[in-house]
Amino acid sequence: MDEGLKEKLVNKKENGWKDLPNDKFNQIFDFCNGYMEFLNRSKIEREFVTNSVNLARSNGFRDINEMEKLKAGDKVFFVNRDKSMYLAVIGEEKLEEGLHIVGAHIDSPRLDLKPNPLYEEGELAYFNTHYYGGIKKYQWTTIPLSIHGVIVKSNGEKITINIGEDENDPIFTITDLLPHLAKDQEAKKLGNAIEGENLDLLVGSIPILDDKAKDKVKLNVLKILNEKYGITETDFVSSELELVPAFKVRSLGFDYGMVAGYGQDDKVCSYTALRALMEITIPKKTSICILSDKEEIGSMGNTGMESHVFDYFISELLNKTGENRVNLLDKVFCYSKMLSSDVDAGFDPLYASVSDTTNAGFLGKGISINKYTGARGKAGASDANAEYVAWVRNLLEENEIKYQVAELGKVDIGGGGTIAYILANKGVDVIDCGVPVLSMHAPYEVTSKFDIYEAYRTYKAFWEKD
Ligand code: MN
Ligand code: MN
Repeated sequence: MDEGLKEKLVNKKENGWKDLPNDKFNQIFDFCNGYMEFLNRSKIEREFVTNSVNLARSNGFRDINEMEKLKAGDKVFFVNRDKSMYLAVIGEEKLEEGLHIVGAHIDSPRLDLKPNPLYEEGELAYFNTHYYGGIKKYQWTTIPLSIHGVIVKSNGEKITINIGEDENDPIFTITDLLPHLAKDQEAKKLGNAIEGENLDLLVGSIPILDDKAKDKVKLNVLKILNEKYGITETDFVSSELELVPAFKVRSLGFDYGMVAGYGQDDKVCSYTALRALMEITIPKKTSICILSDKEEIGSMGNTGMESHVFDYFISELLNKTGENRVNLLDKVFCYSKMLSSDVDAGFDPLYASVSDTTNAGFLGKGISINKYTGARGKAGASDANAEYVAWVRNLLEENEIKYQVAELGKVDIGGGGTIAYILANKGVDVIDCGVPVLSMHAPYEVTSKFDIYEAYRTYKAFWEKD
């Protein structure tokens, strides 16, 4: 094909780093420094919410409950049980003309403590765990883990736990069998080699100085916990304690071009959306940002996207802008547009066989758009209309944002889902778009700084669009 024709006709999907002007290069790296710093402080959903509230307040946002009335340019947020959050910047037009929604999730795969976690065996103390979300279990052994979350006593007193992140803190780990004795284990299938019930965390080894006590190591751990947090063993039953990798987020590669860190699914899209929203002043359409919980286990529950708390938030916006009337909420959703901002599977050359390379998201080629997700013949997918895909494409093209349209893996290899279908079911035009990730759901996930910045630019352009 002659070069002129190729230039005109072929979808080039170029590497975004190519011919990048110096100032944009610096903007990308500055932005990603902020992202890495935020991610280090926000490993679980509760921490992400706390840090987002602080960021929002310092940018003029207020709790919606503090506001009697709302007008164009007002900035509000609503925190749902400390684990999910919605933010809004009220637009010039009425809400019934439709909202521009960016929805991400702030929960990530991890190990949760069981309600009765502590036991002693072989004069070592352990915490029993139950994994959360889709993990490859073998990846969670022999890495440093930290414990994050809350313990709520029966009198309501809440104790916030974060241990294993500070240099002076201890860390915790899950042991694995030495190779010398692992002949039988290594013959097992990868998915069965480490059993979920065996993902128990090593938490202590020194026995208490009491001759008569049984389970002396366990008792010593309880004594330390009582001194440090004022809790007893029973208080664990009303706790939410999450084990996450104690690794710090780091730049990856000789060129510093990538980010390696825990929980980038989907905190990379949450952070980029949040940062973009902070820069929205008076949009035409009201800008909404969703930071949801429980996506990794199916979006159920009162902090998940399936709950009606989001509808309540939009109803409150309608009430406080003085617009509300019977059945208006349904109309608002039917006229709204959404970017379901969730990560995409990045093409991994080491595992190329699972991807259709003409329909895969590549690191460094910009924001990755999934028209549909689902599995086995698009089952469970919210499949965006071509008309809406064209609208989104136009938005990206007029803002010179690098994008790629992809799907998650080859046909019948697997599949996945996001919160897209939940809003689509309400009548919103929704499409999935986000940052391509390598090693998704692993303790250490990899993204490209170029794509992170393009995601931020996408969300900002979407909210600024009429
Ligand atoms: Mn996700
Ligand atoms: Mn996920």
